[in-house]
Amino acid sequence: MRKKFILILALILISITVYSQQPPTVILVSFDGFRWDYLHRGITPNLQKIIDNGVHALSLQPSFPSKTFPNHYSIITGMYPQNHGLISNSFYDHVEKDWYGMRRNENEWYLGEPFWQTAQRNGILAASYFWPGSEQDIESRRPKYFKAYNHDEPYLNRIDGVIEWLKYSEDKRPNFITLYFHDTDSYGHEFGPNSPEINESIKRIDSVTAYLISSLKDNKLSDVNLIFVSDHGMTEISRERIINIEEMLSGYNCFFEDSGPLMRITPPSEKLEEVFDLLKKNEKNFTAYKRKDVPKHFNYSNHPFIGDIVLIAEMGWSLADNRALKRMERNYSKGDHGYDNHNTDMHGIFIAYGPKFKSSYKTGTLLNIDIYPLLCKIFEIDPRSNIDGSLDRIEFILND
Ligand SMILES: [Zn+2]
Repeated sequence: MRKKFILILALILISITVYSQQPPTVILVSFDGFRWDYLHRGITPNLQKIIDNGVHALSLQPSFPSKTFPNHYSIITGMYPQNHGLISNSFYDHVEKDWYGMRRNENEWYLGEPFWQTAQRNGILAASYFWPGSEQDIESRRPKYFKAYNHDEPYLNRIDGVIEWLKYSEDKRPNFITLYFHDTDSYGHEFGPNSPEINESIKRIDSVTAYLISSLKDNKLSDVNLIFVSDHGMTEISRERIINIEEMLSGYNCFFEDSGPLMRITPPSEKLEEVFDLLKKNEKNFTAYKRKDVPKHFNYSNHPFIGDIVLIAEMGWSLADNRALKRMERNYSKGDHGYDNHNTDMHGIFIAYGPKFKSSYKTGTLLNIDIYPLLCKIFEIDPRSNIDGSLDRIEFILND
């Protein structure tokens, strides 16, 4: 009798030990362009339930520029765009004489180490149902399971795909998964952040969240940790607030990159001072900086592909060269992002829920570069030492 009791006790202890050695599971969900205050419109009951039982930050501050690829890659690497290399959604590689764009997967442009690579180096499998940088052309740089980006993939299929991965046998099952939805970005651009159409999009995202939660529950996966983020916010722009920079600099043969909230300019080297002076003289509703003088708080001067001069538009203003101007006049959108990342219109959301996180806990604005060290802490693995993020600024949201 006593022997049997000790045996049962030993078995219980062994199973507790084995269970506690299993790594946690985390799904990192991005709602593109979901501005922080969309949660305060009273149209997101399902997200509100998660907020009530999890951690909710006032907002998530993106890195500069507050654009999609730079910020998804900041979230997953813990680095500023000037250090992880994706200084915008597209930029000119002055060495290779080639354009980086959102469909380019050559790993040479993606610096830093994405969290899925850090995880897999430590024996934790990762998967991605879309994330910028998840399709790089070297296997070790990608999650083990990943989907090639398909904008038209129905939202519920994406969730079903994630559930399938989580039902894999223990040796094949990913413990870190990313998931992405573009809806609020598309509608925010087309109709603006204060339109009835964006409110419908916000409601759609809330229903998608409900489906994710119920799918996890139905499959007995309720111990999964969820982190909901967005890459940036959105602000209203207008046709009356476009500045033609190419016209201002006509005759100087400058090279222009980007348009809208920011622009990077490379003049012929002997004309740099002249062009810069001209921009400073006409500086209205935008600010011009030489690359090395971009204020420290933007963290946007290290990378050589940034170009010689950086222009940052005031909120709601759009900068254009002749080509961008034509595009803006033909197909004008009512919302944009990419502006000063300290302006709250550019801020996104941060909600975390699950056994690793405190419940009913509210905190102030968090920085998106701190999510990578947070993930490392959750999985008890070492972060890369060259990141810009800091665990100290975010660790307090975890359960003790
Ligand atoms: Zn975006």
